[in-house]
Amino acid sequence: MNQQEAALRIAYLCEELDRHNYKYYSLNQPEIDDYTFDQLMNELIALEQSFPDLLHETSPTQRVGNDINQDFKQVAHKYQMLSLSNTYTEEEVADFDQRIRKLTDENFEYVCELKFDGTSISLTYENGKLVRAVTRGDGEKGDDVTANVKTIKSIPLRLHGDYPKEFEIRGEIVLPFSVFENLNREREEIGEQPFANPRNAASGTLKLQNSSIVATRKLDAYLYHVLGNNLPEDGHYALLQHAATWGFKTSEHTRKCKSIEEIFDFLKEWNVRRKDLPVATDGVVIKIDSINLQQELGFTAKSPRWAIAYKFKAEQERTILHAVSYQVGRTGAVTPVANLEPVLLSGTVVRRATLHNSDVIANLDLHLGDTVFIEKGGEIIPKIIRVDLSERHPMSEKVDFITHCPECNTELIKQEGESAFYCPNETGCPPQLKGKLEHFIGRKSMDIDGLGSETIDLLFQNGLVQNVADLYDLSFNDLTNLDRMGEKSANRILESLETSRSVPFERVLFSLGIRFVGETVAKKLARGLKSIVKISSASLEELIAVDEIGTKIAESILNWFKELKNQNLIERLKAQHLNFEIIEQFKEGQTEKLAGLSIIVSGTFEKFSREELKNFIELHGGKNVSSISTKTDYLIAGENIGPSKLEKAEKLKIPIISEDQLIQLTE
Ligand SMILES: [Zn+2]
Repeated sequence: MNQQEAALRIAYLCEELDRHNYKYYSLNQPEIDDYTFDQLMNELIALEQSFPDLLHETSPTQRVGNDINQDFKQVAHKYQMLSLSNTYTEEEVADFDQRIRKLTDENFEYVCELKFDGTSISLTYENGKLVRAVTRGDGEKGDDVTANVKTIKSIPLRLHGDYPKEFEIRGEIVLPFSVFENLNREREEIGEQPFANPRNAASGTLKLQNSSIVATRKLDAYLYHVLGNNLPEDGHYALLQHAATWGFKTSEHTRKCKSIEEIFDFLKEWNVRRKDLPVATDGVVIKIDSINLQQELGFTAKSPRWAIAYKFKAEQERTILHAVSYQVGRTGAVTPVANLEPVLLSGTVVRRATLHNSDVIANLDLHLGDTVFIEKGGEIIPKIIRVDLSERHPMSEKVDFITHCPECNTELIKQEGESAFYCPNETGCPPQLKGKLEHFIGRKSMDIDGLGSETIDLLFQNGLVQNVADLYDLSFNDLTNLDRMGEKSANRILESLETSRSVPFERVLFSLGIRFVGETVAKKLARGLKSIVKISSASLEELIAVDEIGTKIAESILNWFKELKNQNLIERLKAQHLNFEIIEQFKEGQTEKLAGLSIIVSGTFEKFSREELKNFIELHGGKNVSSISTKTDYLIAGENIGPSKLEKAEKLKIPIISEDQLIQLTE
């Protein structure tokens, strides 16, 4: 294929992939299956690699993000990003209508739209291309998060149709409930504090420094406000209809309303229907439709006069606090749970409410038998928001956070800077032991087929298994002696334990359940240090030198390997022939020309991708590092390299070389 043919094919593939992205993520009407989509994408990736000149920054392949650490630049908003004034009752909405009717004699219409509960974003498009994405910030200026926003599939990188040459569009970046729940499950698995609600998760994700992680989080976006000169319509509603044809995801539930009664109908309807939506909403925005009239009415100091937010009342209910119980998780974190007199809230019977940690209990000054108000706000699990002190019995007992583990009676500890208490008895506390076993057998870990949490429970209760090494000592008789365990199931378990001996090192490392060592970290550690021997004997500095390993993770690893019990565990697993090193095959072209050199690759390159350069360095015995220190030997600088990185390299007098010079080093 020559350059010209490639250009045509690339243009076609970009167009097709954009169209299918729009159909899938914005309209929810996929036309082709995932496999066919991936085929097209792979063809485009291959072509762009062969013809790097033809790679464009709005190509659908550019949505995967990159691992360049970003310092978010502050950018001034062209149009102020004001927040709306909030109302909570129909009377306040009626007052708003009255105020406007006093200010104008014109006939006008309102537009009612759902208020999505996420984080606001302002997108700027020029000549049909996304050029900038900025957070609300303080309303005057916000953070430039363009690289992260480009990974959101429902935000078009290129537009179609009769879009204005230059305009801004605003919307809300949200995390769907289903994605939020998965994300929290994964966080809890590696001992990270879960996010309180989808809004926090969305805004936290948008500010991540590594856009390739943002890409995995599956953020979504609804756009709701077009701004600019020379817009094709005077009506806000009609503009949104246009925006949808340009490729934006807009809410299908937006409605024009002529009267205050129609607005009330919308509020009543959506107070109920919103519970069936896949994303969180916290109210309705009511706007004047005509943009001319909007401009005539203008702004107060804090907010526009032509719009108002009506916030749904978070449903509250009164009930009695009977007791506080404590749950111990796999990582030993102790979570207090309030046990309540059952009460109906938002359509479900609530018996328990989360109390998060000891600070929450102290702030509420909870007493047993208290009458409490519970609420289901943005949070999934209800929480106690306040105590009705007038109902408190003078003799009632104050709730004090426990000092000892409810499962093993070990004294609890609190780590500096953390709000949670932990049971430190990692190797003797039943829920921690069982949790570790469950983590070990999981699909992403050792993938032991036939063993589930019920069987683990049985094995544990019968004293057959205390830790993961014990699993490999199980005999056929041990298993068949268990209740409800047939010969067939026993064989299946033994077979999959056998197969697990060939699970690659990085997954074995993840399976150990070391705090903060999730899937990705385990992979980076395994690839960076190659064996358990090196990892267990590594210093803090050596661990931090591995890509994406920070002090918190490094310290957790050091502490884990310091424990004699863990050292014994590794020895026993080694004796069972699990993989404890990366088995490397001899690679063609391998040399030691870069041995002992620490090299940083940063920016974008002409001839190779960053990943290819890193592989090249490893092939020649060099070490890839991610942050500049006096120990760095070379910085391979490409285009768009961050100015702070360059500055630091110059300050530390680290040689800055090109990709060609790197290759010369190995010749
Ligand atoms: Zn315990």
